[in-house]
Amino acid sequence: MTDVVTRFAPSPTGYLHIGGARTAIFSWLLARHYGGRFYLRIEDTDLLRSKQEYTDSILASMRWLGLDWDNAPVYQTQRTDLYNSVVARLLADRHAYWCSCTPEKVEAMRKAAKQRGEKPRYNGQCRSRGIGPGQGRCVRLKLPLSGKIVFDDMVKGHIAVDVSELDDMVLRRADGMPTYNLAVVADDYEMGITHVIRGDDHVSNTPRQILIYQALGLSVPRFGHVPMILGHDRQKLSKRHGARAVIEYRRDGLLPAALVSCLARLGWSHGNQELFSLEELVRHFDGTNLNQAAAAFDPAKLEWTNTRFMRDMPLENLAALVSPFVRETGFSVQPKARLVALCAMFRERAGNLLTLAENFRPLLVPAAELAVNKKDAAKHFTEAGKTHLRALTGVFQACDPFAAGKIEEALNSYVANSGQTFKQVAPPLRTALMGFMGGAHLSDIIAFLGKEETLARLARFI
Ligand code: GLU
Repeated sequence: MTDVVTRFAPSPTGYLHIGGARTAIFSWLLARHYGGRFYLRIEDTDLLRSKQEYTDSILASMRWLGLDWDNAPVYQTQRTDLYNSVVARLLADRHAYWCSCTPEKVEAMRKAAKQRGEKPRYNGQCRSRGIGPGQGRCVRLKLPLSGKIVFDDMVKGHIAVDVSELDDMVLRRADGMPTYNLAVVADDYEMGITHVIRGDDHVSNTPRQILIYQALGLSVPRFGHVPMILGHDRQKLSKRHGARAVIEYRRDGLLPAALVSCLARLGWSHGNQELFSLEELVRHFDGTNLNQAAAAFDPAKLEWTNTRFMRDMPLENLAALVSPFVRETGFSVQPKARLVALCAMFRERAGNLLTLAENFRPLLVPAAELAVNKKDAAKHFTEAGKTHLRALTGVFQACDPFAAGKIEEALNSYVANSGQTFKQVAPPLRTALMGFMGGAHLSDIIAFLGKEETLARLARFI
């Protein structure tokens, strides 16, 4: 395939949610797979509900997800001239006409049609009146009197709609504003869009848009209408199902690559593969294998995906990603190798970057500020426990070099020589170092803390 041009066309009336993100991912992947172009169009014609804040947030979400776009984003509110010129062309070619019917009148026509058992539609009263522009007049498309609109949807397959089911739709409202269908066709044509991937809530608009393309004598892009994402109970997805805005996932410390991998799998598959890097998605996503059955979003699976990505990614990358979250907790870890060491110790235990950064805290506070779990302290700082801590103070003091391997050796020989088991020695030590019975491998913790800090922690509880 040559020259694939796709777009994502959000309305900035809210934040980017996972449904929109999935549509954006599919459109982006298709363009990138074929080495084509991917554009962003902000459909901001609803002046009451559109907000700059939402546009900014959608762009930030796209960037965070790694979905780069070509050229500057296009804003519909800045393209009135284009829409007017397309309407003028349709009028000049007699594919459109001015209509003076009031909304009340049109409503009455629709009602009457319904009563006759027909589809509610405008009856074409102004079609041949030949009237021109004027106050309160809109422009309508002059539909062919019969025929079928047929298209081959990338997701839903063959779709055919009889023209008799449609009516002469409005292209330009009485207030001069273009309708959604007119603007979308004008934009998709002007931007050279070859493939339109969007939610299937738009599938009923597509035959109408095709009629506009035909009236303009333009070739029609390919369409792919992806089904909605549902909740686990197969109801419309909402917050209740654990679905959140993309910026919220970002704040929660999810990895963008995990979200992209998980969303791409909602309605698309490549064999049985579950996890995909962005590069793999680009390689495999060719616009086929799109599923027409609605997929259900599973937050647990997203978490699982995230854990896997955190575990499998290069430690340096993980360190870079967790770094802003560490700063949020009020710490700065220098040099980078120390942050890498923390990631190595804790990444198996954290489901996201936020908890990962929080898990570092006991190792970053000074000994005096270490919060201690009362229950663990009472249980493990017994006389026997304190005796171990005292003895270990000497063991660690003598440990040279103070590195994980040497520390492990020293610890093991202390346990063996004292005729105890690790199970007796480790809990007081762990509680003294971490403040609770958790954390990573003991010798790694001790090596990270360094001799001075390790001894200070033991001293606190002796
Ligand atoms: N602005 C529309 C929406 O957010 C998208 C229309 C389209 O992709 O054609 O649903």
